[in-house]
Amino acid sequence: MELMEPCLGPVTRAGCDSWCPNSRAGCWGCRGPADEPNMEQMKKIMEEYGFSEETILDRLECFGGFSSLMGKGNTK
Ligand code: SF4
Repeated sequence: MELMEPCLGPVTRAGCDSWCPNSRAGCWGCRGPADEPNMEQMKKIMEEYGFSEETILDRLECFGGFSSLMGKGNTK
C-alpha cells in the first residue's frame, strides 16, 4: 500500500511467497481468505491510505473467494 496500490495480503491465505507484493504490485487475494481474516482492520488500513469503499469491494470481489465474508458487516 506504500506504492498506493490496494493490497489484500494481510487477509489472504499464505503460500504464494507474496509473489505480487514482491513484484511491486498489490495482492488481489487469488488464494482466498486466510483462516481468520481481520476484515475490519484491513478496511481501516485501506481507508487510511485513501482507498474508497468501492475500490476495496472491487478487489474483494475479483476472485470470489471473499464472497462469504461480504455482506455480513465485515466490509461495511
Ligand atoms: S494475488 Fe495471489 S499470487 Fe499475488 S500475492 Fe496475492 S495471493 Fe499471492
